[in-house]
Amino acid sequence: MSGIYFHIPFCKQKCSYCDFYSTRDSNGIAELVKSEVKELILRKDYLNGEIVKSIYFGGGTPSLLDKYKIENLLNCVRQNFDISDDCEITFETNPDDLTEEYLQRLRECQINRLSIGIQSFNDDVLKYLGRRHDSKNLDYYIETAKKVGFDNISVDLIFGIPGMELAIYLDSLNRVIQLDIQHISAYSLTIAEGTLFYKLRKQNKLKEIDEEDSLIQFNNTIDILSAQGFNHYEISNYAKDGFKSRHNCSYWEGVNYLGIGPSAHSYNGVSRQWNISNTRKYCNSIDRDEQFFEVEHLSDNDKFNEYVITRLRTSDGVSKKFIEENFADCVYKSFIKEVNNLLKQELIYPYDDRIILTRKGILISDYILQLLYFV
Ligand code: SF4
Repeated sequence: MSGIYFHIPFCKQKCSYCDFYSTRDSNGIAELVKSEVKELILRKDYLNGEIVKSIYFGGGTPSLLDKYKIENLLNCVRQNFDISDDCEITFETNPDDLTEEYLQRLRECQINRLSIGIQSFNDDVLKYLGRRHDSKNLDYYIETAKKVGFDNISVDLIFGIPGMELAIYLDSLNRVIQLDIQHISAYSLTIAEGTLFYKLRKQNKLKEIDEEDSLIQFNNTIDILSAQGFNHYEISNYAKDGFKSRHNCSYWEGVNYLGIGPSAHSYNGVSRQWNISNTRKYCNSIDRDEQFFEVEHLSDNDKFNEYVITRLRTSDGVSKKFIEENFADCVYKSFIKEVNNLLKQELIYPYDDRIILTRKGILISDYILQLLYFV
């Protein structure tokens, strides 16, 4: 099993919190698609003939692509890779782009999963985040998506936003639940370098939400969504039975994936590589047959850290047996020593041969990962 990711690095405006690579100049969309088609062909052996079970269009804003460009990319995948009959094809969208006609075009392209960046149902919050949509018509977009045949829909929400009271967040959460969708990604706002929020914080013009308040919003998310039949299968992700995101799971389960486009990352078990985060340079390099990526070969320690970091985020947790069988004795012993300390503090719990984060542990998962890291 393997996956393919397309990065579509265009956004009509930059959100205040976003550190994904994107550009507001969308003049080069046609050229980008041409370059991504060429990259697919150049790297058709990267997945060693493994069956592709997930294709994901992320960004940026994939919903700036028209039907012909999407078909162009998907046809190239079909011609050069083995695709499973039930391949999950996810398309990230901005709510503003979801007209009935556009949604129908996506269905015609055989897109079978939609991810919609709603983030909040409150207009003041949306404005503060720098989103280009407001809360009007959000229910209509989802209804229309269902009407044209989408039965696997995910919505993004953000909590921990400065100034956003619990009641406002819970209202958004409840509105999302009423949409009767299959998957919700609820992320805690992080202030990353290079974003407008980062700049404002440096100038003392932004005061982060109190950590306690953010934790209350997180705890409420887990409790409310669990009561509504959503499985909390990863720190920020909740799915109805049978609707975990295959794309997300492939990152956490160490599945090989091929990332196409500027800034896209790829992984094949022995190395990671990432493309240039600059659309012009990426297209020029592809055009001139020059190198457009950097590669990092993974040491045994890197592989261990990677395994723990990705698995511990999930509700399946980390297998002690896997670590014992696949890594050096000293790595296993150091891991078990930390595990015993974490068990005493009730930050993890044992299940079969695995260890899984407790609720208390989830809330400080970054700290726990640092403890388990082997250097
Ligand atoms: S959050 Fe999405 S829409 Fe906003 S700038 Fe980032 S990639 Fe673009």
